[in-house]
Amino acid sequence: MSQLQNCWGVYQDGVTHVLDAVSEMESMAARTLLPDPANEFDRNVPRICGVCGDKATGFHFNAMTCEGCKGFFRRSMKRKAMFTCPFNSDCKITKDNRRHCQACRLKRCVDIGMMKEFILTDEEVQRKREMITKRKEEEALKESMKPKLSEEQQKVIDILLEAHRKTYDPTYSDFTQFRPPVRANSSKRITRSSSVLTHGSSSEDSSDTFSCSPESTEHRMFSNMALNEDSDESPPMDINLSHLSMLPHLADLVSYSIQKVIGFAKMIPGFRDLTAEDQIALLKSSAIEIIMLRSNQSFSLEDMAWSCGGNEFKYQINDVTQAGHSLELLEPLVKFQIGLKKLNLHEEEHVLLMGICILSPDRPGVQDTSLVESLQDRLSEVLQTYILCKHPPPGNRLLYAKMIQKLADLRSLNEEHSKQYRCLSFKPEHSMQLTPLVLEVFGNEIS
Ligand SMILES: [Zn+2]
Ligand SMILES: [Zn+2]
Repeated sequence: MSQLQNCWGVYQDGVTHVLDAVSEMESMAARTLLPDPANEFDRNVPRICGVCGDKATGFHFNAMTCEGCKGFFRRSMKRKAMFTCPFNSDCKITKDNRRHCQACRLKRCVDIGMMKEFILTDEEVQRKREMITKRKEEEALKESMKPKLSEEQQKVIDILLEAHRKTYDPTYSDFTQFRPPVRANSSKRITRSSSVLTHGSSSEDSSDTFSCSPESTEHRMFSNMALNEDSDESPPMDINLSHLSMLPHLADLVSYSIQKVIGFAKMIPGFRDLTAEDQIALLKSSAIEIIMLRSNQSFSLEDMAWSCGGNEFKYQINDVTQAGHSLELLEPLVKFQIGLKKLNLHEEEHVLLMGICILSPDRPGVQDTSLVESLQDRLSEVLQTYILCKHPPPGNRLLYAKMIQKLADLRSLNEEHSKQYRCLSFKPEHSMQLTPLVLEVFGNEIS
């Protein structure tokens, strides 16, 4: 069957319902007009040619006919043929005798409802054929233009996903092994507020909300016990450098995260081909950025906090200020987390972004910049292709550009973090709370 016939068939199917009713009426009319309409258009034998009784192939020019009568009707109409019956103009047309009397055969065609308006002209046929060919070509072109992830690119993604899953535990079960979080007590300070209790009532200014959750009493006792704090504590946002109660816990958390980032980096395709010196240079400068990036997984827009299991491991801005960081870092950091969260990245995009961030050739101390660049380029290409073929609209709009902008944001966050870290680690009483790994990666001002 030709494409045209296919297409025509579809068209006919579409009008079949209407035509069913029409031909039903016509066949009823035919029954009254013709002497022996017996089996014709019987519901039980619907695939019978209404003209000659041969096996019908469907509706043609508005009636159920065989291919022979379809062709006969079309030819007769095109030729504008005038036939005369050599007999009595009442020949009974059958499959075997249908060639004997063209006049009665055509009359029968018209009687059962065949209409010349349904015949396409040669130009129409040609136009239709061209349209179908054109549409097919356009579809083929579209399909060939559509970017596809190569097998190798898909493999890179799979490796990165695996690397991330091996180094990021979404249950945060290891957090209990860190030195415990100690939240300084203040009536103005954000505490380990229960989001369930405070959410909704004060979500607009949660940073200044004191939670009346049951935990706060327990927690006050805990912090009093641990720090023996008095009530004349400085306002929450001032960094009281002698009371960095969250520092031990967060130092352990950061140290743990650095280990995981190293584990992840080592699994990035090509990373281990770099010299040890370059690997270290990349890790040292990107570690804090990757920690900020990966922490987005625990960040929630509902309570603007990093939730890592229970209230104990739920970190608000104020908790980080109690580890020695000021709002100059934390405000843009939270803004960054919100912006990143709103991109709704697929896990594939998230891990690719981390890989691209680590493999930045412009980090200080990198020797073989061209090798790092080529590795980063490869990941960027995978990311762009991934977005093109896997990220549906409208989320994909300018997504790559937005992600690259996030890398720029991370650079300034990194810079601010370094500044604040230097200030903090300059004091021995604080740097002694840090871990050897943190000191090695972020620098040790004392030694
Ligand atoms: Zn027929
Ligand atoms: Zn005849």
